[in-house]
Amino acid sequence: MTWLRSATTSGGDVVDVELSGDVIGRVLPAVGTVEPGDVDLTGSVLLPSFVEPHAHLDKALTASRAENVTGDLLGAIDAMAAMAPTMTGPDIVARAEAALRIHLAYGTTAVRTHVNVGAESGMRALEALIDVRERWRGLVELQLVALVRNPLAGPAGRDLRQALLEGADVAGGCPHLDDEPDRAVSICLDAAAAADKPLDLHTDETLDPRLLTLATLADLVERTGFAPGVTASHCVSLGVQPIDVQQRVSEQVAAAGISVVALPQTNLFLQGRAHPVGPPRGLTAVGPLRTAGATVAAGGDNLRDPFHPVGRGDALEVAALMVTSGHLGPTAALDSITAAPRVALGLSPVELASGSPADLVALAGRDALDALGAASAQRTVWRAGRVVARTTVTTELTRPALQGVAS
Ligand SMILES: [Zn+2]
Repeated sequence: MTWLRSATTSGGDVVDVELSGDVIGRVLPAVGTVEPGDVDLTGSVLLPSFVEPHAHLDKALTASRAENVTGDLLGAIDAMAAMAPTMTGPDIVARAEAALRIHLAYGTTAVRTHVNVGAESGMRALEALIDVRERWRGLVELQLVALVRNPLAGPAGRDLRQALLEGADVAGGCPHLDDEPDRAVSICLDAAAAADKPLDLHTDETLDPRLLTLATLADLVERTGFAPGVTASHCVSLGVQPIDVQQRVSEQVAAAGISVVALPQTNLFLQGRAHPVGPPRGLTAVGPLRTAGATVAAGGDNLRDPFHPVGRGDALEVAALMVTSGHLGPTAALDSITAAPRVALGLSPVELASGSPADLVALAGRDALDALGAASAQRTVWRAGRVVARTTVTTELTRPALQGVAS
């Protein structure tokens, strides 16, 4: 049993939190004293640990190996295809684990990653990441989505079913890139249903308003009663529909129980390059989706690869972009990297309450907005009640007159 003392909650209360085994015991108003063996969290904000709902660990940390010449989605796909022969199993494992260490140090304890399957890479990346998933179990919970190429009606559809048999946790795909987008959605849903596994599709990652497979997906999920869970990632084209279409489709998505994952970094980088004047942001219709009651999570997507060559791998970077480009308030932005992705991934909820899993992150900050805004690397991360990462930051200002200014 360990006490975390004088932690500030997202709501601004100052509390003592008892860790009892792998769960939270009592949560009480802070008594203001620290006993030997306690953890003093004065000046820290304590939150549920972060969840990354959409990563590409097999591609991570390759930006300097493969240039995206055009800077758009197809340029990134071409760059990856050119690099694929050099991506051996050990190379994929090494980069995926380097990315996981970055995520964990920043406070992320669950990651859903898409994995390229079929075409040039065969099952190589899936096998490598199954290895990583098993090695990291208990530290970072990893879910693997089989991401197949197109056309889904060809060998890619068979690759998807095979990957689900071989250990992928979730069915994936990119129907909007298919010659028959609506049929592709249906093939992916059928493969997921046959395997009794969830579905997570790259959905409408385009500013072309004529592509709206999200509506097809919602319709199919409602009609079939598909139960294992459905996530639609990106949903860029929803953001450029007339407002009445946004509202209607958002209501369909909410009614079908589909979670949407917004991916601001990659969308801001890849989308809008054909618009030299007033380029659109490429973000999904965050407001209408939330108003309709749909779950809207946010993820980092690509970590320094041809789809997004920069980024820290920090969920707070994503949350800050949901404030800046998605116009969420700080509470909703933090929800998009904590509670919402737990819903999308089918994980148990985590909150500062008795009996909740003790998966937590303590951040330097006076309150939640301060912690989100500063995004200091100074963090402590608990998984199942034990510390799994701790980062301390030391700053020295060398001119005495400036001391006391930094925060
Ligand atoms: Zn993606």
